Parts: sequence; structure tokens; C-alpha cells
Amino acid sequence: MAEDYRDMWTKLGLNLEAHDALLQILGQAYADIYVSQKERPEGMAYFDFVMSEVHGLRIKELLEEKASGRKIIGSYCVFVPEEIALAANATLVGLCSGADFALEEVERLLPRNTCALIKSSFGFKLGKVCPFLEAADMIVGENTCDGKKKAYETLGHLVNNLYVMDLPQMKSQLGRNLLKAEFIRFKEAAEQLTGTPVTAESLRQAIDTVNAKRAALHRLSSLRHADPSPISGLDALLINQVSFYDNPARFTESVNTMCDELQQRISDQHGAFPAQAPRILISGCPQAVPNWKLPALVEKSGAVIVGEESCVGERGTRNLVDNSNTTVDEMIEALVDRYFQVDCAIFTPNRERIDHILEMQKAYKADGVIHYGLQFCQPYLMESIPVEKALEEQGIPCLRLETDYSMEDAGQLETRIQAFIEQLQ
Ligand code: SF4
Ligand code: SF4
Repeated sequence: MAEDYRDMWTKLGLNLEAHDALLQILGQAYADIYVSQKERPEGMAYFDFVMSEVHGLRIKELLEEKASGRKIIGSYCVFVPEEIALAANATLVGLCSGADFALEEVERLLPRNTCALIKSSFGFKLGKVCPFLEAADMIVGENTCDGKKKAYETLGHLVNNLYVMDLPQMKSQLGRNLLKAEFIRFKEAAEQLTGTPVTAESLRQAIDTVNAKRAALHRLSSLRHADPSPISGLDALLINQVSFYDNPARFTESVNTMCDELQQRISDQHGAFPAQAPRILISGCPQAVPNWKLPALVEKSGAVIVGEESCVGERGTRNLVDNSNTTVDEMIEALVDRYFQVDCAIFTPNRERIDHILEMQKAYKADGVIHYGLQFCQPYLMESIPVEKALEEQGIPCLRLETDYSMEDAGQLETRIQAFIEQLQ
């Protein structure tokens, strides 16, 4: 990092030794997986910079925002509406849960057969290595899968600012009513936290800001329909991951600049991979920073990932909020309309997700789909079976993988991925 941020980290209560170790591992993984890629668009320099300063400059900016009276809200799920946080004068940041940390301590609080994502969120807290978590004035947990729901009861004893949002499990009218009631309750909690009421003007502006961010990500996705794909799956995933941390307006501008470059690349037939490279769609559990294991293995094997049906991907970003409303009430309705379409596997039944995977396979001209399930994640592992069946019925090859954050199974995964890719050629 360009500047010495140790004072800042100490004041936030981080364990400097453990944090140094984490940054070192991260830096090495980033150099090996990202920087070593060939044919990267020049626009990736911005995202490389953001990643290099993710615990430095970005945290400094957030602390400056706090000093000027804004609040920071941390969240673990794409159901938490960024628009409401922004409208209440708060900044929403994702709390990454993409690496194992302090596993021994974690397993004293959670059963061993808990998914890596939940364990990671505890590890970052117990290991005192996440400046976003420590800088947050409010941490939002949500009642999604059983693992998260019960884990938040324990997390509530480790932090003093946990707010739990209830979420529906069915896409019924009652389910929609619950989501709406929860969005209103979240609005009130955010207003109380910041002391700033949400107004029609502030909410409209926030909707525009987040719509612009999602529209830029839609633009990036649609450019990946091209063959050869102008950007690697690793780089596109990184951009999606950065969307959870970066300043939204600056992020949107950087994605649009990158898309201009990608458009030029498409005209020049300049791909990140050769035109004949097999095209893979990834579907399944979210891939939070720095969980790059699967895409690194896939792209190392010569295939290109063209899309992610994931919360860090199209499940999380598709659909904009209708911005033609004038009252706060109407805008909340519009927000509920948009978020109620997120087809997380915690919903039952969840046919929309299968339809979305089939739609994406066609749009991105994917030769095959890899279903990515985290070990012990019941919702996504259960759904992987009907997903595979639906794809098979359409003659689309599907590989179901189950893994965690450790590198122990990397060799075995690589063998299976290579065999799958060979089958596509
Ligand atoms: S998979 Fe479900 S619970 Fe997890 S972030 Fe996405 S919407 Fe939230
Ligand atoms: S939905 Fe799956 S991956 Fe997400 S927190 Fe729950 S068990 Fe873990």
C-alpha cells in the first residue's frame, strides 16, 4: 500500500499481526491469479488499484465520510437495499466472506458443518482483520438460510450493532408484504442511525445512483455475449466484487469507461481468450472477495467464463428500480418490486432461478454450465440437482461441483474441470 495505514487500523481495533498476514496472502493470491493474466483490458488498472487499496484508501474515505456525519452500514446479502441506506445518508458496504480465517476459533462457536461463507464472516470478526466490519456503524444480517439465521444469533454477542432483517421464503403476496414491511422497518432503523429522514428527493437520487451502477454492470454483462469474450471471467467477477465496496458513482464511471474499451475490443475481435475457447456459465453460491478459486481453475484450463448466475453477478444486479415515482411510499413499492425478483435458493419453489439459468446460457452462448455449491450449503446444493436436470433436458452439459475455501481439493477439482471442458470441445 502506498501510504502507511497502521495508525488507522490500530484505532479501528484490528489485530495488526493477523491483518498483515491476511494482506500478504491476499497480495500474493492477487498477483498469481490476476496480475499474471494475459490480454487484460487497460481499464482493469482502476480495479487493480481499488483492490490494492481496499483496506487502505477506501477505509480512509469511509472514515472521512463518518467524520462528516455519514454512517456506514455493512451487509452480507443482496436483499439489503442500498438505495434506502444512501437516502438516509449512509454508505452501504459488503462484508466480504470469501476466505477462511481463525477457523479454530470459529469452530468453537459454529458447527464444523457450516458453510465456508458463514464461517468466514465469523473468522473476520474473531480474527479482527476486517476494517469494513470494524468501521461499520450498523451490521445488517438477514434471515435467509438456516445457517445464517442461527449464526446471527451468535454474531449478535460478538458485535454490538447487529440489525436483523427478516426475509420471506415464498414469492406469495404474504411474502411480498413481509419484504415491504421489512424495507420500511429498515428505513426507520437507518433514519434513526443517521438522524436523517429519507425524503422523496433523497430516495429518488439514491435510486438513480444505484440504477446507474446496475446499468453499467448490465452493460458489462452484455458485452460478454460477444465471441471472443473481450474480458476474462476472473476480471468480470472482480468488477462485480468491487461493486460492493467502492464509491457507487466513481465505480459506475470506471465500469462505463471499461465498457467503452471492451466495445472497441469487440470491433477489433480482440478477445481475452481465443475465439474457439469453450464458454462457461457459473451458477450457484455467491463468490465473495477473495474467493477466486473456481474461476482461476476454469480459466487456467483454457475455458472462458462468460457469466455468473450468482449474487456476485447477475442474480444480484439484474433489474432496475422504476424511477418514475414521486412519493416515498411509491418508491418503496418500486424497490420491493425489484428486490422481490431476486431468485435466491432460500425461496421455495424457485423455478425462476432455473429459467434464469436457461436464459443466461442462451444469451451468453455458454457451451456448458458449472454449478458451484459450497459444502454444507443446503439451499444451493439441493437446487443443483433440478438445475442439472433442466439443463440436461435441453442438452446442455452441466458439472456440479461442491467445494469450500481451502485449496486442498484444487487438484481434484482441476481434473474434473479439465475433463468437463474437454467434453465441450
Ligand atoms: S445467496 Fe441468498 S442469502 Fe446469499 S447473498 Fe444471495 S440472496 Fe442473500
Ligand atoms: S445460502 Fe448457502 S452459501 Fe449462503 S450462507 Fe447459506 S449456506 Fe452459506
